[in-house]
Amino acid sequence: MHGNNQNQPLNGMLEYCFFNPFISFMIVRTRFAPSPTGFLHIGGARTALFSWAYAKKNAGQFILRIEDTDVERSTPEAVQAILDGMHWLGLDYDEGPFYQMQRMDTYKKVIQSMLDIGTAYYCYSSKEELESLRESQMQQGLKPRYDGKWRPESGKTLPVIPVGISPVVRFKNSQIGVVAWDDLVKGRIEIANSELDDLIIARADGTPTYNFCVVVDDFEMGITQVIRGDDHVNNTPRQINMLNALGATVPQYAHLSMILGDDGQKLSKRHGAVSVMQYHEDGYLKEAVLNYLARLGWSHGDAEIFNMQQFCEWFDLDHITPSAAQFNTEKLNWLNAHYIKEASLDSLEIDITNRLAKLGLTVSANPELKLVLSLYRERANNLNQLASDIAYFYMPAQTNPADAEKHITAEILPVIKALSQKLAAIDWRAEAIHDAINTVVAENQLKFPKVAMPLRVMLTGIAQSPSIDQVMAILGQKETLFRIHKYLI
Ligand code: GLU
Repeated sequence: MHGNNQNQPLNGMLEYCFFNPFISFMIVRTRFAPSPTGFLHIGGARTALFSWAYAKKNAGQFILRIEDTDVERSTPEAVQAILDGMHWLGLDYDEGPFYQMQRMDTYKKVIQSMLDIGTAYYCYSSKEELESLRESQMQQGLKPRYDGKWRPESGKTLPVIPVGISPVVRFKNSQIGVVAWDDLVKGRIEIANSELDDLIIARADGTPTYNFCVVVDDFEMGITQVIRGDDHVNNTPRQINMLNALGATVPQYAHLSMILGDDGQKLSKRHGAVSVMQYHEDGYLKEAVLNYLARLGWSHGDAEIFNMQQFCEWFDLDHITPSAAQFNTEKLNWLNAHYIKEASLDSLEIDITNRLAKLGLTVSANPELKLVLSLYRERANNLNQLASDIAYFYMPAQTNPADAEKHITAEILPVIKALSQKLAAIDWRAEAIHDAINTVVAENQLKFPKVAMPLRVMLTGIAQSPSIDQVMAILGQKETLFRIHKYLI
């Protein structure tokens, strides 16, 4: 099920809390909040998967929120790529997608209410003023920060409001004490409030800023666990302070460590930093990708292979490793091989038909694709590979010259000719084919491969295939003899 597409703000946290004199509990509500500045990559997909699974595990709700306030960098194509990626992986959401750009009125109302109660204030410092403040702080070896010129304090007289300057709005952050949270992955984190500036929450043109929108949304959407990449750890203390200022219940936070490439370096295009849809293109089953992502930084004992139902039953935030996870293409391929073997033949048939179509091939009724697949899927770890391995059933075999030279020798051709006469007269079943080959092998005092290898090359184009009698059984008598005879004239 995909969300109801409503874009109206929700009614706040209380709606999701049930109170009773003896028990009080909150419905788990998680969210995935991508910025649509690129495709859904492996890291984003893992964040989405963990948030989704946590909601499922706890019979909660999962919300999709598109954080599109960076209008310069957000594109409709990226939004679509995120939706496509989630759809392919089956990460369904209970609410959304909500678009932050459609929620501007809400943010502005909240800013006004904060100005009214004094948790935010107008700041008229000009850009130039702030720039020279910054420079002088840097020269003195100080950390650049706002000097609090427009911050209202009791007993303080604020400067005269200058004409012609549109003010920004700043959050009035506490200057004493610490802001702390028990991160569900990283443990306790504490930041002194004196480290935090009075954050700008609305720009001079009135548009709200990134961290502020996140806060309003997490509050209004009743988010109980924020599961996100640890590149957001620095935002969390600011967000917690703003949530407190709004009287919100602060959610729990779980910051996921980054994913490194196969080479131990930051993810690069070659090592996973590609769209999840690229994995589909590249021949991976979504079951393999999901299972793979689930184990990227999370574990359940020694379990390596499990489906999403199992994962949702097992998933918890206690078994997420705080250290970086490393991408491992070999393991992904291993899982892909497993799921190709496990896939239903119906779904495999649809997938491979599409991949063969991309190679320009139409699958005919004969030989039946499902038969071909059941013969070949045991040895496949990639769907594109599987499609190209079986293409010869639906087009003339592309002979590999080296294999032909090695196996189709002048001495063997009379033997193959004798075999073809036998084959023309048998009942076309794998056992009968096998017997015919064995007879010819014995009559000529050869070893089985001496005959099987040239047959493979003649029929499939190359010297590797599953058992040759089975290949021939599926290829059919007429087509088998036709392909053999091309070498006998
Ligand atoms: N929009 C942010 C991103 O794509 C995520 C923000 C969050 O999860 O709080 O990195």
